[in-house]
Amino acid sequence: MQANRTTSDDPTEEPETALETARKQLRAAAGHLDIDPDIVERLRHPTRVQRVTVPLERDDGSVEVFAGYRAQHDAVRGPYKGGLRYHPGVTEEECIGLSMWMTWKCAVMDIPFGGAKGGVVVNPKELSTDEKERLTRRFAQELRDIVGPTRDIPAPDMGTDAETMAWFMDAYSMQEGETQPGVVTGKPPIVGGSYGREEAPGRSVAIVTREACDYYDYGLDGTTIAVQGFGSVGANAARLLDDWGATVVAISDVNGAAYDPDGIDTDAIPSHEEEPEAVTTYATNTIGNDELLELDVDVLVPAAVGNVITAENAPDVQADVVVEGANGPTTSAGDAVLAERDVPVIPDILANAGGVTVSYFEWLQDINRRKWPKERVDEELESEMLSAWNDVRAEYDDRDVTWREAAYVVALSRLAEAHDARGLWP
Ligand code: NAD
Repeated sequence: MQANRTTSDDPTEEPETALETARKQLRAAAGHLDIDPDIVERLRHPTRVQRVTVPLERDDGSVEVFAGYRAQHDAVRGPYKGGLRYHPGVTEEECIGLSMWMTWKCAVMDIPFGGAKGGVVVNPKELSTDEKERLTRRFAQELRDIVGPTRDIPAPDMGTDAETMAWFMDAYSMQEGETQPGVVTGKPPIVGGSYGREEAPGRSVAIVTREACDYYDYGLDGTTIAVQGFGSVGANAARLLDDWGATVVAISDVNGAAYDPDGIDTDAIPSHEEEPEAVTTYATNTIGNDELLELDVDVLVPAAVGNVITAENAPDVQADVVVEGANGPTTSAGDAVLAERDVPVIPDILANAGGVTVSYFEWLQDINRRKWPKERVDEELESEMLSAWNDVRAEYDDRDVTWREAAYVVALSRLAEAHDARGLWP
């Protein structure tokens, strides 16, 4: 997941928090638009940040107290939406920054949600399953007044998963006295989760990569692609692109990369979920993750962690196009170098937005009490991604901006128009 601060060891690169990045991107997009500055000022701040205390009875009978947060950024276009992470590095400021990113992501996709993010400052690896369940139920209770299917809809993030969402949904439903599957997304399908949710961010990365190749006049056939990270996003994107005719020459996990200039059989190597960190074990030829980023390929898809393309290595990126699968894989300084070199970067808020889009489909299925077959999920995702891609492409074609700026212009225009239409309640 995206780190709180840049990890580049380039001394010229100032560390930047998620909040600083979000505000910087807001300011940059506002500079391209004629928007009421009061609306921009409102968007610089979250509507609310709930800080809670989560006491947990450990398995040995002792009690430990953890801090938890829920930042709700902007709900002008619909209920707040965003993940809950369990990680020792969670901070209030990080939650605010990431909640703003969710606002932009939902707006660029034209999904009727606003942005939120939350979490508990805890190392989930140090909790037993029972402890994680008790922590989740108590956290759900502490957030009960501000979440709900029409208020704020959490989802899994770092350190949380479908099981965590099922516990959260159960705790909330028990207190409400009725089953409310729409309070969270990313649940197991048996309790209201959507088919295709797990694969969705990777699928959207693949769709956007296909469209970018088309825009720059490459057919997918014969296009060479390197994918960093072989987890939920990277493996699904790599396998779809492989199926659609691209030549995936490199894939990687935290230990290193498999590389074959003739193409890798992406089904022959287990994904992170199938067998964690096994890419190099199954590879016939390996290279380092740094080398992967600098391969001479048509498309580079960083889909592992944040801040991997920096001012230091951006001059050596040889790919013709970068498609951001991870959240925040390019630092601001790295982004500036790529822009200077005319290397197009298709931004995360568009490329991996399949996750929140299928979360929206899940919520629709929950409130309508009607499950969609996977084929319908995939078809509707394809249609939403094409629509968002075309909106961003139109801004890119019309203005002298990068793809990232074009995506922010689309998002901010929608937010500003909605704020303008609703006005300011006294
Ligand atoms: P994951 O845990 O399923 O997989 C991560 C993969 O990256 C693993 O293969 C891991 O070995 C590899 N990895 C970890 N550290 C690495 C490093 N330093 N260098 C190279 N590889 C490394 O994670 P995921 O769900 O696929 O998420 C990946 C990125 O996509 C994150 O930035 C996440 O925020 C973002 N994202 C995820 C979703 C989602 O729903 N899963 C949605 C949108 C964005």
